[in-house]
Amino acid sequence: MLNLVLFGPPGAGKGTQSEKLIEKYNLVHISTGDLFRAHIKNQTELGKQVSSLIADGQLVPDSITIAMLEKEIEKNPTAKGFIFDGFPRTVAQAEALDKFLESIGTSISGVVALDVDEAELTKRIAERKKISNRADDDADKLQKRIAEYFNKTIHVLPYYEQQGKLAKVNGIGDIDTIFNNISKEIDSF
Ligand code: AMP
Repeated sequence: MLNLVLFGPPGAGKGTQSEKLIEKYNLVHISTGDLFRAHIKNQTELGKQVSSLIADGQLVPDSITIAMLEKEIEKNPTAKGFIFDGFPRTVAQAEALDKFLESIGTSISGVVALDVDEAELTKRIAERKKISNRADDDADKLQKRIAEYFNKTIHVLPYYEQQGKLAKVNGIGDIDTIFNNISKEIDSF
């Protein structure tokens, strides 16, 4: 199996690049942000539990997020591999993912981290806000999300670096160029 983590701060281009990667590598895309938004839209119990946290730009607790993620993996028993987008966002999530994948006889193949500076992220999300209709794309909530990234999520990078699984790719520039650079890294995993 080819199991990839696409890593990066909000606005780094994870969603855009995931769409292209699933096509090229025939993978199942799991975006925890998309899953949460679907739960909120469908007004499920889980959706009700997490909606205010998400609207406020805070991370959802690990226990809830990990359980949802594992269920989603189990829904795809014939997958050739997965691309995890927006997960893991904490070291506890990364550890849980490793454990779970091991229990089903597989592992993370590699992690691609998209590198984009804060000024560019703010600019991109202001653009996305015009069409996304996401409350958490508002400027003040975005600042919280970026803070969550630099306080909690960034620590996931050394976790994978220690395992020799981390590749960094410049996330600024032409979408196809970035895609080619990501593909090169994936082909070397
Ligand atoms: P995203 O679409 O990946 O930017 O996620 C939107 C929001 O969903 C985040 O700001 C968090 O509130 C929540 N979320 C998504 N993935 C996770 C995760 N792995 N851990 C905790 N919260 C998450």
